[in-house]
Amino acid sequence: MSSKRPQINETTYHTHIFSRLVLSCYKIIKQMKLLLLFIFTFSIFETPTIEKDRDRWKPYYSDTKPQKNAENWFLPFDVSDRKKISNIKVISIFGDHRDSYYKGHIHTAIDINPVKPTTKLIPVYAMANGVVCSVHLGENQKTVVVRHTLKDGKTIFTSYKHLKEVYVSNGQQVDQKTKLARLFTKDESKKYGGDYHHLHLEIRIKFDDYGCASWLTFNNTQLNDRFYNPQVFLKQYVK
Ligand SMILES: [Zn+2]
Repeated sequence: MSSKRPQINETTYHTHIFSRLVLSCYKIIKQMKLLLLFIFTFSIFETPTIEKDRDRWKPYYSDTKPQKNAENWFLPFDVSDRKKISNIKVISIFGDHRDSYYKGHIHTAIDINPVKPTTKLIPVYAMANGVVCSVHLGENQKTVVVRHTLKDGKTIFTSYKHLKEVYVSNGQQVDQKTKLARLFTKDESKKYGGDYHHLHLEIRIKFDDYGCASWLTFNNTQLNDRFYNPQVFLKQYVK
């Protein structure tokens, strides 16, 4: 009998240890849940930055060099004279602050339309010789980016956004006669809140953000680091 006693005590002891272990595991899991909830909440409300977001867009980029220099520049629309800047109307200027998408971001482009569209569906053309280096096809944010080499050897990029249909693909060499895409019609634009029937045209010094700086530029240092004022650029090059 005496040999059985310690066995009972041992079992009780083990049960006690086991239940304490379960209890502490439960406490840890409970705390982990709180921690995970905190991380999740923090990640939702944290403002994204170009540096954190850029890798998400890198897969859409192709590192191909243009075969021809961009020496002759044209308006991106099929207008009567593609060298006459008064053939486009500017709906929204470069550098103003925006409340859409990420509140407070700076408009990195000009929003334009042809003054007198020749067709109901408005095509968008490349502005000069270059190569398509990025295409992304988010439903209402379809974008084509063309990489150009200027006469002096400098690289710049033209970025065409708010496209309804895209007709080119990554790595494709283009010139001013290449139809890249077409714009939304007013009716098609209504489906997405009505503000997409224009071309958002960026002239970029850099494309190291792979596109996300278009909505994550929050100050003038970031703006001037990556973007030219397209209106100034058009006056200088489209002539
Ligand atoms: Zn715009």
